[in-house]
Amino acid sequence: MRKKVAILGSTGSIGRNAVEVIGALSPAFEVVAISAHSKTTQFCEQIQAVRPKYAAMTDPDAARDCRRLNNVDVEILAGPDSLVEIASMDEVDIVLCAVVGAAGLPAALAAAKAGKTLAIANKEPLVIAGELLTETARQHGATLLPVDSEHSAVFQAMQAGNPAEVDKIILTGSGGPFRTADIEQMRRATVRQALNHPTWTMGPKITVDSASMMNKALEIIEAVWLFGLSVEKIDILIHPESIVHSMVEFVDGSVIAQLGTPDMKLPIQYALTYPERVRGNCDRLRLDQLGRLTFQPPDMRKFRALALGFEAARSGGSVPVVFNAANEAAVEAFLAGRIAFGKIVDLIEHCLDTHTNQTRLSLEELLEVDNWARRETTRQLAMSPRTVIQK
Ligand code: NDP
Ligand code: MG
Repeated sequence: MRKKVAILGSTGSIGRNAVEVIGALSPAFEVVAISAHSKTTQFCEQIQAVRPKYAAMTDPDAARDCRRLNNVDVEILAGPDSLVEIASMDEVDIVLCAVVGAAGLPAALAAAKAGKTLAIANKEPLVIAGELLTETARQHGATLLPVDSEHSAVFQAMQAGNPAEVDKIILTGSGGPFRTADIEQMRRATVRQALNHPTWTMGPKITVDSASMMNKALEIIEAVWLFGLSVEKIDILIHPESIVHSMVEFVDGSVIAQLGTPDMKLPIQYALTYPERVRGNCDRLRLDQLGRLTFQPPDMRKFRALALGFEAARSGGSVPVVFNAANEAAVEAFLAGRIAFGKIVDLIEHCLDTHTNQTRLSLEELLEVDNWARRETTRQLAMSPRTVIQK
């Protein structure tokens, strides 16, 4: 049976990789729906190349332009709700959620409610609504599969034992562009420096998150929900070569790792073909050419975001919502050249200090907290002295 896939965020880094992966898996897989936010020209070119049945643009103005520019036979849907619509369509089997940020939450939930296979790259919905999302998936028989490389590695390694036999998981991280920088150098880093990731090519938001190690912090919370683990069972290890994508340590002391090149095509493909493995077109790992792999513990004093991530994961409730939303707002300000790199984590910390934890929130309540944290971060930004930042 041909598997029909909807790619939410198809113009992004994960989305474009997914189009390539599915192209190589044709005719067993087919893209029936794609989505973008505002990059109209890129989206129209993609529609032309992919020929999906449905194309959703979440920005209504961009959708209007898209309808004007498009000249192929496709149904163009408009507005944020269009994501929910394609995520729950009967003719879609697999929803690959590769939107960036909390914006992907309603569609991820809709896919879970519709009982789809939900391949999730978009970690922010799991961070802010992990309980709601995993519970909804369970209730409606949806299958939630990780795409994030570390979580895909853990998921693959987990198959060597039972969940009860897992002692801990070890999430690896490259350490980003500031692994060897001192704290002051890092605080003053430019946008260009923060976007210069040593091993992975990704969208701008996650690349900045990798530089602050906020990405690893979000991944701790993502792992809590994907694998039902307590925070105490999650370790972080810096691995600059980005070859060992993560590991699972079992009760007998055996450590099972998953290795591969730093390329998202493999975790994307595995989520699509699971439980099977197929040849596809992913690059092969050549360990003989790499020579050696190195590991070191993270510097929690330098990467404060990581320490805050462990605390947020332990607190649970609405704390991860604030943690994520403050970061999204701060990273946007950093990328726009409005604040220094070091200010990102200051803003997150301020927001967390100002917030009182709330538990068992509904979607609407979660979104309210998310909104509050964005407003609070923006208010804080407006109050701080205006600095001109070198991009
Ligand atoms: P990109 O920034 O490259 O792409 C984001 C996609 O989401 C684009 O298609 C974009 O559309 C769309 N988008 C942006 N804003 C909105 C919005 N408000 N509503 C709906 N759609 C929107 O991101 P990445 O591909 O790098 O990352 C996507 C997700 O996957 C993130 O959550 C990230 O953490 C996660 N991830 C990414 C990895 C990577 O290698 N890139 C690795 C592991 C996880 P448009 O192009 O029109 O702006
Ligand atoms: Mg990752």
